[in-house]
Amino acid sequence: MVCVRYAPSPTGLQHIGGIRTALFNYLFARSVGGGKFILRLEDTDRTRSDEAYVRNLYDTFAWLGIAWDEGPDRGGPHAPYVQSERSALYKQYAGELLAKGRAYHCFCSAGELEKLRREQDHSAGSGTAYPGYNRRCRNIPDEESRRRAGEGEAFTVRLKIPLEEAGAAALTRFNDKLLGDIEWRNADINPDPVLLKSDGFPTYHLANVVDDHLMGITHVLRAQEWISSTPLHVILYGAFGWEPPVFCHLPMVMGQDGKKLSKRHGATSIDEFRLQGCLPGALINYIALLGCSYEEGKDIYTVEELSRLFSLEKLNKAPAVFDYKKLEWYNGRYIRMTSDEELAELTLPRAVEQNLFGTADAGGDLPPGAQPPRGPSAEERALYTAAMPLVRERANFLREIPAKLGYLFREPPVPAAEEFIPKKSGPAEALGLLKMGRELLPALAAAESDGEAEELVKARAQAEQVKLGDLLMPLRTALTGSRVSPPLFLSIRLLGAERCLKRIDRALASLEGRR
Ligand code: GLU
Repeated sequence: MVCVRYAPSPTGLQHIGGIRTALFNYLFARSVGGGKFILRLEDTDRTRSDEAYVRNLYDTFAWLGIAWDEGPDRGGPHAPYVQSERSALYKQYAGELLAKGRAYHCFCSAGELEKLRREQDHSAGSGTAYPGYNRRCRNIPDEESRRRAGEGEAFTVRLKIPLEEAGAAALTRFNDKLLGDIEWRNADINPDPVLLKSDGFPTYHLANVVDDHLMGITHVLRAQEWISSTPLHVILYGAFGWEPPVFCHLPMVMGQDGKKLSKRHGATSIDEFRLQGCLPGALINYIALLGCSYEEGKDIYTVEELSRLFSLEKLNKAPAVFDYKKLEWYNGRYIRMTSDEELAELTLPRAVEQNLFGTADAGGDLPPGAQPPRGPSAEERALYTAAMPLVRERANFLREIPAKLGYLFREPPVPAAEEFIPKKSGPAEALGLLKMGRELLPALAAAESDGEAEELVKARAQAEQVKLGDLLMPLRTALTGSRVSPPLFLSIRLLGAERCLKRIDRALASLEGRR
């Protein structure tokens, strides 16, 4: 049975790279049918781990609609799924390696190690294969080592990396499902890395390998930046006498400039995309394409489709490029596929925040501008929902939607006279055109469809020998307060004849007054 995991360290907000790793693991488990997807929190770095990031993780995945089969919040046969709650286990396994002679106590103090690092910095370029620990405690006789540890001297436990094999330099080989056979000289591996810190906490390497083994992980799908740790992990599996899982290091995610995707390129945390008004489906759809190709000529996929189509064979070796424009396109496509009701539901909180329905009178000493925003009345809510077709075709992010609809809820100020004047025309013509528009208004408000309204305007334009666009332009300005607005005919029907006539009359009065 396939069993995979997402093993984030809660040391930052969930970001594109992490979500891609989680998603590929999730899709892989689903694609093979009956696979299992586990969430494990790798919080061994006590200083950088933070509860706020754990909350962000749950919140992000709930929003994305991606769930694991086992995890800290769901439980499961391998609980606990939080590494800081599994310390005793790691100690036990470090003890096993000590007993087998595959690990040793290191008594070097932090100060001594720091001094060593400084000396190495000094002699950088002097041919050290891999700068780092000089394996000083590796050769302390067993008995002495045990005695000193027993007497309470502080120690860490280090892995004894085999350096020689049958008289030759030792090598570590493994197969990466995507990258093929990989071979490392052991001398080039982090020299005898710490497995257990002096406070008894494990390092990433020990906890990660022990947990992957105990949790029955069959495939490790993780970011390519971890590949340099893999030889070390393979040695650890060997030291325990365990079978390593299948490794598959996922293609890198780059910015347009070919450098690893980072804040420099723009938003990377999922929170930022949410705030902008990304739809979870769009984000998942786009992220699922970062480094994997599914079917020729198809770009919209549901999670169910992806779960069916995903396979490790479809992963690309080449790095994926994160294209913000492409994500925007996806989001626009998903917005167009969202129903009026849902779109209204999703954007109403922002509409309220943006004061679309005005402010509540909270009383007190607050000046008018400082009153809190008011939620919509039932009537406003219905109008807002009915207005969704006005914006659905044009918005690429949810955030843009409420701002486009202000004129439906508030009378816009009457714009400057020039705003009413079509090209190659003058103030007198504009006034005439607006009067014509006024005459048409009741019929436009009563029209059954845009097509019917357009016929009415066309017929009138023809009869008056004016251009259709010229006839509509002052009307649009009077009703929406701008020369550019969402579709006019539906706006007229939504506003209703009475409100429209009032706005036109106000505009006419203002234009006449300015003549
Ligand atoms: N805790 C590591 C991380 O934060 C996990 C790496 C792995 O998947 O082995 O990404």
